[in-house]
Amino acid sequence: MASIRLGCIADDFTGATDLANNLVRSGMRAVQTIGVPDGPLQVDADAVVVALKSRTTPPADAVRESLAALRWLQSQGVQQVYFKYCSTFDSTAQGNIGPVTEALMDALDAPFTIATPAFPDNQRTVFKGYLFVGDALLSESGMRDHPLTPMRDANLVRVLQAQCRRKVGLIDYRTVAKGEAAIRERIAALQAEGIAIAVVDALGNDDLLRLGPALKDLRLVTAGSGVAIGLPGNFGITASAAASRLPAAEGLQAVVSGSCSVATNRQVRSFIEAGRPAYAIEPLRIAAGDDVVAQVLAWAQPLLAQGPVLVYSTAEPESVKAVQGRLGADEAGAMVERTIAAIARGLVDLGVRQLVVAGGETSGACVQALGMRQLQIGPQIDPGVPWCWGRDAAGRALHVTLKSGNFGADDFFAKAFVQLS
Ligand code: ADP
Repeated sequence: MASIRLGCIADDFTGATDLANNLVRSGMRAVQTIGVPDGPLQVDADAVVVALKSRTTPPADAVRESLAALRWLQSQGVQQVYFKYCSTFDSTAQGNIGPVTEALMDALDAPFTIATPAFPDNQRTVFKGYLFVGDALLSESGMRDHPLTPMRDANLVRVLQAQCRRKVGLIDYRTVAKGEAAIRERIAALQAEGIAIAVVDALGNDDLLRLGPALKDLRLVTAGSGVAIGLPGNFGITASAAASRLPAAEGLQAVVSGSCSVATNRQVRSFIEAGRPAYAIEPLRIAAGDDVVAQVLAWAQPLLAQGPVLVYSTAEPESVKAVQGRLGADEAGAMVERTIAAIARGLVDLGVRQLVVAGGETSGACVQALGMRQLQIGPQIDPGVPWCWGRDAAGRALHVTLKSGNFGADDFFAKAFVQLS
């Protein structure tokens, strides 16, 4: 099996997919693993992204899990390590970006690394160390009031310094604009000043492409998913359609949706308006003890041969609130996730081999229920959402796509299957 060049550690599940998608689009064959694997990969890959759930856990747990991921990546012979966090630099007051970065630097004996969440394709830019979300400073964006990781300071040098023992500095946009040699010079100058981590400005993809070659010798890179577009060239890899090639799709087609986001509501409506069969799950019926899983599967079985079916709990905010008021938000969420995950498994038992899952948490529940541990990343359906391929716990080969809430065009569900054919 060819060696893996780039080993990545992502602090959440959909963020891992986002990074893997960028790597594939830049020519690397990428596999995403759910947690730290216990053996080698099942397929060839140039890059592997280990998906953790370490964004908001206590820093000591995030460090421990990230180091376990690092040990596995090292056992696979990776040449460079990439720690991936969110493009809005989501972190708690305690971390976890700083503590994980420093633990990885210690373990890799890395004297220097960079930190930049810039992702211009998604309107995340860094200017003079300040992070912008669209036209607003991070601290004036919706992230100001995030329930778990409120970001009240847009100055990333300050934010990261508060989480680190090492000194944090800046490589600003003027240096980045001059290209590789200037960036390398700046890195040397920062190191001479005792600075070990540098936030890097990037206003557009050109900046990220200029930055890439200057990072070739770093053992560790820390970033959002944007920096990934400039790295494959360092390994002699150029963009090609071959990187996203998956095994041929077969079997029946289904969509399960537990996302109540605005975009998903539109996608569900669009699928129904196109005349496709759809089954609405009512959370209160699950709570009342109805065997909804069996009812859904009995409904789906005769329809599957004619094309994709949709099973959804997707609802408008008023109806979600009403359910949450009756059952409690966490209980309702967990109950619906369990039900949809059991339906996904049942659909695969009925012969579904092409499965669209809508909803971040819902995706996690489905992938877990199916026992999928490795996902080979394929072609992008819509920005940030690729088809993936892997095997479930029973060894059945499946194409799955995991769509987080607000991603995807209105006709995403139909479009996904057309693309696969
Ligand atoms: P998104 O990516 O859109 O945020 P998630 O799957 O991450 O979607 O989260 C949606 C949450 O809402 C899940 O916990 C899901 O079980 C729950 N949920 C889905 N449908 C309903 C509903 N009709 N009423 C209440 N909660 C629901």
